[in-house]
Amino acid sequence: MDNIITENLKQVQNNINYACERAGRSTSEVTLVAVSKTKPVEMIMEAYNAGIRDFGENYVQELVDKIDIMPKDIRWHMIGHLQRNKVKYIVGKVAMIHSVDSLRLAEEISKESVKKNVVSEILIEVNVGMEESKFGITTDNALDMVIAISQLPNIVIRGFMTSAPFVDNAEDNRKIFKGLHNIIVDIRDKNIDNTTMDVLSMGMTNDYIVAVEEGASMVRVGTAIFGARNYNI
Ligand SMILES: *Cc1c(COP(=O)(O)O)cnc(C)c1O
Repeated sequence: MDNIITENLKQVQNNINYACERAGRSTSEVTLVAVSKTKPVEMIMEAYNAGIRDFGENYVQELVDKIDIMPKDIRWHMIGHLQRNKVKYIVGKVAMIHSVDSLRLAEEISKESVKKNVVSEILIEVNVGMEESKFGITTDNALDMVIAISQLPNIVIRGFMTSAPFVDNAEDNRKIFKGLHNIIVDIRDKNIDNTTMDVLSMGMTNDYIVAVEEGASMVRVGTAIFGARNYNI
């Protein structure tokens, strides 16, 4: 089949729609971010032509290369680990940075945003799995981190991002998603300056359906749309 990406997208969107229905949510509450890291422009353009405008990338160099050559109405999401010395390459170019995992990184984003006279929308990355190899702050520190970052100029904290553990059965991650949803609702109720806390970025190919049922407002799906990645090319 030569429209495989278009077909995959229909399937993923259907799954999101059904999950919304089961959870009594409106489909307009959930944004599908197509994760296109390692994938060539031709494949991304097929998704674009099928209507997708939100794309997620992990690597700064690959991201800026794609931004330069692809349609200007794409909203790019930086979802990979971000080093402070690379912040300057993406501030002002991306719609959202999902992977803010320290105050020092937020400070750098703030500094660069002031310099460029833009406001950067960010998510704080929360490590829910407590795996040592993963980035992100702990749920216990989430409120303190929101308060600290909210005081920096030219940043709006839109919410949280998390990557749940890779599990055979997505149901195993339901509690994690529900827990983070509860935390974000609590923090939203505090009406902290420069925060909206209306974005909860969680759910990947393996578990996005459960994530939507538990309150995700953005799901980051790569493999189910573009197929398996080959990192050796
Ligand atoms: C690669 C990646 C995804 C997409 O993963 P799939 O399992 O291919 O859907 C989502 N989020 C992050 C942070 C990623 O690095």
